[in-house]
Amino acid sequence: MEKKQFQAESKRLLEMMINSIYSQREVFLRELISNSSDAIDKIYYKALTDDGLAFDKDSYYIKIIPNKENRTLTIRDTGIGMTKEELENNLGIIAKSGSLAFKKENEIRDGHDIIGQFGVGFYAAFMVADVVTVISKALGSEEAYKWESEGADGYTITPYKKDTVGTDITLKIKENTEEENFDEYLEEYRLKSIIKKYSDFIRYPIKMDSKNRKPKEGIKDEFEEVTEEQIINSMVPIWRKNKNELTDEDYEKFYQEKHYGFDKPLKHIHISVDGTIRYNAILFIPENIPFDYYSKEYEKGLELYSNGVLIMDKCADLLPDYFSFMKGMVDSEDLSLNISREMLQHDRQLKLIAKNISKKIKNELQSLMKNEREKYEQFYKSFGRQLKYGVYSDFGTHKETLQDLLMFYSSKEKKMVTLEEYVSRMKEDQKYIYFASGESYERIEKLPQTELVADKGYEILYFTEDIDEFAIKMLKSYKEKEFKSVSSSDLGIEEDKEKTSEAEEKEYKELFDSMKEILAGKVSDVRISKRLKSHPVCLSADGEVTIEMEKVLSSMPD
Ligand code: ADP
Ligand code: MG
Repeated sequence: MEKKQFQAESKRLLEMMINSIYSQREVFLRELISNSSDAIDKIYYKALTDDGLAFDKDSYYIKIIPNKENRTLTIRDTGIGMTKEELENNLGIIAKSGSLAFKKENEIRDGHDIIGQFGVGFYAAFMVADVVTVISKALGSEEAYKWESEGADGYTITPYKKDTVGTDITLKIKENTEEENFDEYLEEYRLKSIIKKYSDFIRYPIKMDSKNRKPKEGIKDEFEEVTEEQIINSMVPIWRKNKNELTDEDYEKFYQEKHYGFDKPLKHIHISVDGTIRYNAILFIPENIPFDYYSKEYEKGLELYSNGVLIMDKCADLLPDYFSFMKGMVDSEDLSLNISREMLQHDRQLKLIAKNISKKIKNELQSLMKNEREKYEQFYKSFGRQLKYGVYSDFGTHKETLQDLLMFYSSKEKKMVTLEEYVSRMKEDQKYIYFASGESYERIEKLPQTELVADKGYEILYFTEDIDEFAIKMLKSYKEKEFKSVSSSDLGIEEDKEKTSEAEEKEYKELFDSMKEILAGKVSDVRISKRLKSHPVCLSADGEVTIEMEKVLSSMPD
């Protein structure tokens, strides 16, 4: 038996790869299952053009077989198999992808189901195995072969007996070391969870035997252990289904299965884009604020899939901060991934997708506001603050996107209103959008400063959150109407023209002077005010910073 040597370069490459490409060992299973899925796909594509070949879905599957006694894990598939030459070429030459070649040969341009392309995934097996054995019989071939390798040292190929077409890959799982646990890759529950995590939407059934205790038939209180074959993956990704075939319950179930939150989704968005960029996405607006949402621990992001295979748990680049509350996933076949598939090669496509997604979220929120106002207000209660941060952050670059999503409590309507609603109701002689800040609506209502404005019949927006004034400062105006605090010294209201008479000024001069003395350093002036009706006194602000903002600023730690 002749032992063939890897080329020197391959040897180095293999060592480097096994030790450094993947940040998580468990992805070895994703890689091997993806290869099996590709192998079945190839038969499927062949059957499309070959009348002599029928594709009976039921006879195609992947099976995962752990064996604790022998410390082996076998990945079996009924795919196209490999000839001796293919074993040699595809598994003996690193970075050679038989799958990529297959796509090219068969001119499968939108062969978006075939996953392989880099020709390295297979070697991920060596992260968990000392020995890898591949027994394969190719479609249309009489012989079967066994390929075996202990890693960088090389491999052997020998004839072998196998009756059915397909491939068995058996890994001799490494022994545990002090730091590392390899036993877990022989545990049924662990394997199932890895399959669920990465390979849930592989289109062919991934089977596993499951041992269960069951009551013995006919005999009371007696149990027996039975082995049942289970299908672990859900196979058809919900996002590839037609929206019309799906119910709200289907989306809810998906939300829960994916553990996006403990609540229910308030609203789902199902996107299928098939243009210059292609992707499917299912996004959710959560019903409740995640418990850590307004903390540093919260990580924004969407799950990122490439062809139904999970690439990233939380791809932060897909969501702007102001929509960081969104949950869900994106699947695209157009992503160019690096060889570990853990990173994206170019983020151009990703940027385009992210931009498109933001637009869709905005539109959805706007239509929610228009058509399901109550739901929108519920949403806004939880996440409105984040939108306002969005307006304020990044030097106001997102204000155009966000201004129409804002809502504030209205003095007139006694409920939340949008800026558009406010402006559409403005009186003819009204110059500004007025707002008043305070701790609560009740407190604001009693502010002396609101009197004159309210008296004119103008609507006032009540600001109760710290961020409100900062966001508004960034907006400056809405539909060319500037914002104005009711406590600013120039309200732009035609005050009753009768001027304060000099006599009046004189009369109070002494009083005002002594008030100024007492309040020295706290106020810059004491004046007679024309804006008060029932209140004896009020504070007003000169210049840019309102009284409420001053409070926020001075309460901030240096
Ligand atoms: P990739 O999947 O990116 O092509 P891999 O290193 O994962 O690279 O696999 C290399 C090649 O080996 C595949 O392209 C395919 O031709 C072949 N191969 C691997 N596993 C199987 C399998 N289970 N059945 C048939 N061919 C396989
Ligand atoms: Mg592969």
